[in-house]
Amino acid sequence: MSKKYVYFFGGGQSEGSASMKNLLGGKGVNLADMAELGLPVPPGFTVTTEACSEYYTLGKESLFDLIKPEIGDALAKLEETTNKTFGKGPKPLLVSVRSGAAVSMPGMMDTVLNLGLNDETVEAMIALTNNERFVMDSYRRFIQMFGNVVMGMEHHDFETQLESVKKTTGKVLDTDLDVDDLKEVIKLYKAVVKEVTGEDFPTDPMEQLWRGMGAVFGSWNNPRAIKYRQLNDIRSLWGTAVNVQTMVFGNSGDNSATGVAFTRDPSTGANEYFYGEYLINAQGEDVVAGIRTPQQITKAGSLAWAASQDVSEDVRKSEYPSLEETMPAVFAELDAIRDKLEKHYRDMQDIEFTIENGTLYMLQTRNGKRTAHAAVKIAYDLETEGLISEKEAVLRVEPKQLDQLLHPVFVKESEVEAKTLTIGLPASPGAATGQVVFSADAAEAAKAEGRSVILCRVETSPEDIGGMDACSGILTARGGMTSHAAVVARGMGKCCVSGAGDISIDYKANQFTVNDTVIKEGEWISLNGSTGAVYLGKVDTVDPALEGAFGSIMELADKYRKIGVRTNADTPKDAEVAIKFGAEGIGLCRTEHMFFEGDRITSVRKLILVAEEVKELRKQMRYVDVKEKAALEAKIAIPLSQYNEALTELLPLQKEDFTGIFKALNGLPCTIRLLDPPLHEFLPHDVKGQQEMATEMGLTVAKVKHLVDSLHEFNPMLGHRGCRLGITYPEVTQMQVRAIAEAAVEVEGSKPEIMVPLVGNVKELESQKKIIIDTIKDVEKETGKKLDIKIGTMIEVPRAAITADEIAEQAEFFSFGTNDLTQMGCGFSRDDAGKFLGDYVEKDIYEHDPFAVLDQKGIGKLIQYAVEAGRKTRPNIKLGICGEHGGDPASVEFCCNIGLDYVSCSPYRVPIARLAAAHAAIKAEK
Ligand code: PEP
Ligand code: MG
Repeated sequence: MSKKYVYFFGGGQSEGSASMKNLLGGKGVNLADMAELGLPVPPGFTVTTEACSEYYTLGKESLFDLIKPEIGDALAKLEETTNKTFGKGPKPLLVSVRSGAAVSMPGMMDTVLNLGLNDETVEAMIALTNNERFVMDSYRRFIQMFGNVVMGMEHHDFETQLESVKKTTGKVLDTDLDVDDLKEVIKLYKAVVKEVTGEDFPTDPMEQLWRGMGAVFGSWNNPRAIKYRQLNDIRSLWGTAVNVQTMVFGNSGDNSATGVAFTRDPSTGANEYFYGEYLINAQGEDVVAGIRTPQQITKAGSLAWAASQDVSEDVRKSEYPSLEETMPAVFAELDAIRDKLEKHYRDMQDIEFTIENGTLYMLQTRNGKRTAHAAVKIAYDLETEGLISEKEAVLRVEPKQLDQLLHPVFVKESEVEAKTLTIGLPASPGAATGQVVFSADAAEAAKAEGRSVILCRVETSPEDIGGMDACSGILTARGGMTSHAAVVARGMGKCCVSGAGDISIDYKANQFTVNDTVIKEGEWISLNGSTGAVYLGKVDTVDPALEGAFGSIMELADKYRKIGVRTNADTPKDAEVAIKFGAEGIGLCRTEHMFFEGDRITSVRKLILVAEEVKELRKQMRYVDVKEKAALEAKIAIPLSQYNEALTELLPLQKEDFTGIFKALNGLPCTIRLLDPPLHEFLPHDVKGQQEMATEMGLTVAKVKHLVDSLHEFNPMLGHRGCRLGITYPEVTQMQVRAIAEAAVEVEGSKPEIMVPLVGNVKELESQKKIIIDTIKDVEKETGKKLDIKIGTMIEVPRAAITADEIAEQAEFFSFGTNDLTQMGCGFSRDDAGKFLGDYVEKDIYEHDPFAVLDQKGIGKLIQYAVEAGRKTRPNIKLGICGEHGGDPASVEFCCNIGLDYVSCSPYRVPIARLAAAHAAIKAEK
């Protein structure tokens, strides 16, 4: 049987079904579903995503030849169902042509409305509706949209014509234009189409339809859609479907309207009232474009909106009444549909509707995009309401989304003191402070320089997507809560204040004005996306409180996850934060970070600067006679005393570090890694620093400089680091282990685990382990206390992974250091690969940056091999991961699936890892 490319819906039945999302796209499948549910959906048909894929493989012409018969049949059926005729009177059928991929990509692809209008059908429409102004307005919108989307013309080609008519007629708003004005606009539009494209505006509706469908398929690969898919990691889709649907008109008079609504509040997740906006006598894009101020659906919402915007009740009632007040019967019908849709889809819905002459039509429903805050609350509420199971509730919150919740909000006192510039709409919650920029490009450039910026736009459009991603917060002068800026910012989890109407932006002068204050590019402002406040200057931020629904969802995550979650923390403060976020111990305590603290760096430098000399002289002393030995002893005296002095200075400091951490951990385990980085990282490379060390050690500056230079390495990451340090300077290992052991004696119940870094050969571990055990024994003897300290290693050198069976003989635990394992396994420098890895990802050589998301096919195989080999030797060996990947959801899932015991990640990623681990466990059950 030949493939079916076109699926009809409407008139209470549908050819498609709920399971066909990949084929029909999100919009298409839900239209089919709603029609089947008996909801008032204007009939239409969906051309499949598979057709889009063929569009790109076979080419447009071949695809169109292939689907022509099906399109003909679907159109005939549509005409029959609607009792209208495409391209002819007396009742012309007009259609919308819209995109709709399996994953929603709001505003990224193209749409054409009012398709089927030409000079002939326009006349028939006038006769039919008796509303010439509405028909003319629809016609000019159609020419503008088709010209832009299909014929590649610019918006301003049309805007200029519209403005010229307004100017000559002295009209201000589009709605002020009368029939004659609109006729003039249409004339000018047609002329500009001819002038710019060299062709007449197409009048044949079939030509309009084919070209419209072609443009929508083509928009799948426009730059902003590609960028959106990259940013949201949307892959392996077939393309977009095309939905051709009978037009209904929200702009056919004052008994008509159009709106967008969410069944629950997409910002907070609240379920107090039906949350949404509408406009009387308007078409869908008017609500989203933010040209007019949208009104609220419910009276309660309207009152809340008026209070937040300082709008008096008189003005609210007369100028911005709710749908509940203006069209109570339609509101009641819509409210009932809200309930039905939520129960049917068992999730918060984002719906689009149109009211044509008092009749309600549903144009779309989909699972609504929401902030992380809302996602958590909605998942929790739906579970308590009995609509979804516990496991579903866990799966409803994307681990990555939690990032938004874990980020700071404004310090109350600091916010109170800040000067308020204006109040806009609280479009996407959170707090942002940054320097003002006025273009997406400027925001991207600032990000590259590491600056935090607020992107200020009159309104945003999908072209701004890169800048919206790059900035810390978004401020728009126009646009409601469902404007492009608001929807996209919420999806990104980015703080956004929209519709700040007091702001007047001057792009040419790179500044905005608000109540006589001029803010120029580069000045600091702050946004509160939860209240809509815009402040002058910087405002301090604080960590958010994680309670209520968040805690409950995390409890559920813990109930279902099968893997432990620890944290990478080097200080008691970090450990405390991580424990608050649910960490079950420290999986990686990098001791070197402690060496930079306070004035201990001087002791560390002293140690390093003499260590080599001490080692060399000791070596020489082994092979000399008594006389020479005496000379060498004299020579070694000072460096050796400085070496020992440095170790003696560091010991109590390290011990103090560990006692602090053990206390913070309160009995939770703590994997402490011995010194790891290349020594030169600690050395002073500036003259001032070298002078200080010269004074401290009684050396010349030239000597210090010489020593620093001699420690320089060409490949430090492959150089004298990790356990190699402990092998050449065993006293450093001894000092660290003594500090750990003495701290463990001091803090009752502490559970240290000592981890040897960068082992590639079991003998390295063996040699370090001997020092560790001897030192622990010494401390036990001195203190009379028995210590239980596990000794293990990192697996971060490929040779270690391959010889894991041998290494497991010596190691009680492995922790996969996937940062170094990726570096050495892929051969990419951790420090420099960023310069070209972006190209690799763009060209799909690696799906992701392998330092951010574990390369499962390569590095993952090494880990799997080591897991199996390690367990073969030591069945109860404890296995974890402590590279950056330990907080990446996809990598966490991999770690769960290969049977690691725990993942360890930075404190702020602990909740993400907990949730990702629960997702992995629940998905694995299926
Ligand atoms: C690693 O290599 O993955 C690791 C955790 O150690 P570091 O990043 O400190 O080298
Ligand atoms: Mg490492």
